[in-house]
Amino acid sequence: MTCCRVNSGLGKDDSDRAGFWGSPGKCDVPARTVESALNFVGTNVNPDMVLWLGDNVYGSAYNVTQESETEVLIETTGMVKRALSFSGRKIPVFPVLGNHEGFPVDTFNVNKLQKEQWLLNLTGELWNEWLDEAALAQYKKTGYYTQLIEGTSLRIVALNSLLYINDNMHTMVNSTDPLGQVEWLERTLAASERNHESVFVIEHVPICCERGAEGTNSEFELLETSGRMMTLLERYANTVRGVFAGHYHSDFVRVLKRFVDSTPYALEFVAPSISTYDWLTSLQVWRRIPIVPHV
Ligand SMILES: [Zn+2]
Repeated sequence: MTCCRVNSGLGKDDSDRAGFWGSPGKCDVPARTVESALNFVGTNVNPDMVLWLGDNVYGSAYNVTQESETEVLIETTGMVKRALSFSGRKIPVFPVLGNHEGFPVDTFNVNKLQKEQWLLNLTGELWNEWLDEAALAQYKKTGYYTQLIEGTSLRIVALNSLLYINDNMHTMVNSTDPLGQVEWLERTLAASERNHESVFVIEHVPICCERGAEGTNSEFELLETSGRMMTLLERYANTVRGVFAGHYHSDFVRVLKRFVDSTPYALEFVAPSISTYDWLTSLQVWRRIPIVPHV
């Protein structure tokens, strides 16, 4: 496709042009397709909550500026807010940063955090109606946060994937636990266990520790960091009730298995994307099935 964006130029004929709603292939969809999908969620799905799993900035990742990235984040947040306002209810939304939110793509300078403050402040302000005071303060410092869903015992633990992808060269100096995310995760899960809470872990890049295993993206991760996080998910399997990720643009579920004997202990739901780049437009709706206790 040669006409994915204004600066791509027009395709020579129809076979080389994206359609009105977009096109399968390495081509993002136009804003109208994103808006239409979000409006469908706001009017037809009418969700109890939304997990917004990152990568709002174009797939053409080296073709962005900080200004264009800012515009996209403002525009997409506006679309989400408008679409969810149709219900007339306050629908909780829990966003995370994707690797495309890093500028340049995949980067997050943990050694000079002031360079990332524009992104944390921008998204923190855009998302502040969804995050409580403590979550927002934590997010603006590190890009990760936790929040108990009001009136429930379900806690969201939102990770900053830019801290455990190995394309982020800024984490090479200390790849054990950039910005203390693993230690924070341990403290947070331990507190949840003590308080008899349930936890949904949300992240952009699925975490895993089996390098090169089929269906994983482990070559994309710091092995040590993601391995430690997987160990924590296993340790707190009775508290973590679901792990939700994006990134692949593909819809699948991973079964997380114990390191020693491969016993399954959790499910990681990997959501598809509205952008076709380069699969089909899709979104994922999870329905909660009430558990009937044994009598
Ligand atoms: Zn991604």
